[in-house]
Amino acid sequence: MLDADFFRRWITATAASVDREAQRLTALDSAIGDADHGSNLQRGFAAVLATLEKEAPQSPGAVLSLAGRQLISTVGGASGPLYGTLLRRAGKVLGDAPEVSEAQLAEALRAGVDGVMALGGAAPGDKTMLDALIPAVDALGEGFDAARRAAESGAVETTPMQARKGRASYLGERSIGHQDPGATSSSLLIAALVTAAEGGSDE
Ligand code: ADP
Ligand code: MG
Repeated sequence: MLDADFFRRWITATAASVDREAQRLTALDSAIGDADHGSNLQRGFAAVLATLEKEAPQSPGAVLSLAGRQLISTVGGASGPLYGTLLRRAGKVLGDAPEVSEAQLAEALRAGVDGVMALGGAAPGDKTMLDALIPAVDALGEGFDAARRAAESGAVETTPMQARKGRASYLGERSIGHQDPGATSSSLLIAALVTAAEGGSDE
């Protein structure tokens, strides 16, 4: 079972890897966007860590809801409300249970992904974060490592796609040949589940 500490480690490990990879995320966004994805998420997750520390939420659902709310209020770019919705929706599904199963986490993330699709109107193949998140959620039943691999492949597979949503879509065919920054950060989020399961938070 996964408790609030697991979810705190997950978010902390995500923040650490966003910090490490911020330059790369921004470089990807400079190719097909406005070169702010790394700094957007760095700022967002730093604020999330501060608020988790201060408010000390006591359940998995409360950790995710608080993190999601903070991302929405801190990140100005498209990715803030989208990641915020992912985590808030997932948090809502988990409710105030003190511990949840991996299957419940998968179900909650599925609802979160549906929320991202409803908010942003993107579908699989549109070259967005969904192209990493959806395969990851599909693979979660086989464990965190399978989900990590699915997210990483999903992110790589955005390279030949033409963007149909978000800022990159303004480039039309010129968006082809670059990996999507949001799919890349989503693969960091999913990979952090493995770190959290190993007991670490990569601080
Ligand atoms: P902005 O595009 O406002 O500068 P960011 O650079 O932080 O915001 O995030 C860009 C990422 O957000 C994209 O790489 C893409 O993965 C994701 N994204 C943008 N629009 C959508 C959407 N409608 N649905 C899902 N993801 C999206
Ligand atoms: Mg951007």
